[in-house]
Amino acid sequence: MEQVQYKGLTFEPYILKKDIQARVAELGKDIMRDCAGKMPLFLCVLNGAFPFASDLFRAVEGMDAEISFIRLSSYEGTESTGTVKEVLGLRENIEGRTVIVVEDIVDTGNTIYRLVEDLRKKNPAEVKIATLLFKPDALCRPVRPDYVGFNIPTKFIIGYGLDLDGLARNLNDIYILKEE
Ligand code: IMP
Ligand code: MG
Repeated sequence: MEQVQYKGLTFEPYILKKDIQARVAELGKDIMRDCAGKMPLFLCVLNGAFPFASDLFRAVEGMDAEISFIRLSSYEGTESTGTVKEVLGLRENIEGRTVIVVEDIVDTGNTIYRLVEDLRKKNPAEVKIATLLFKPDALCRPVRPDYVGFNIPTKFIIGYGLDLDGLARNLNDIYILKEE
């Protein structure tokens, strides 16, 4: 596998498509086991989580479940701006429901923390977090994802939905910023 370049930065292959697929299948099984009979609502956080949500939702094939899409963002370039925008697009009534927030990555935890707080105000039965990637060493909020694809170091990664200023989301594998 080759290195890729975006905006003058070099990234090297880090997690391969086949390993992502295998892990997502496992997460799907975990969710089917934990949420059987609860008819969970998957909430895909756009834009980054769309490939993961698409694969994860199909990995719970056969279970009664719904999916919807919301939007917010906190990233510009390779450093967190620390600011989180409003939650947009939630039309469903989530009162009494099991909600599974589907994120691409939990880094500082600011985004997911704010989002879960907002969702809790709407009285769901429970809010679970499914994230493909988790940077535990960067976490500065009291959140603990329920379903984690991969724990990764505090480095910048792209691909499989994760972007650098809007680019690289269509990479099938995940790449990590190369230290020069
Ligand atoms: P947090 O609020 O710091 O947890 O950041 C969450 C958001 O920042 C994610 O949903 C991503 O959109 C973005 N993000 C965090 N780390 C990375 C990364 O390594 N690559 C690309 N985007 C990232
Ligand atoms: Mg995101």
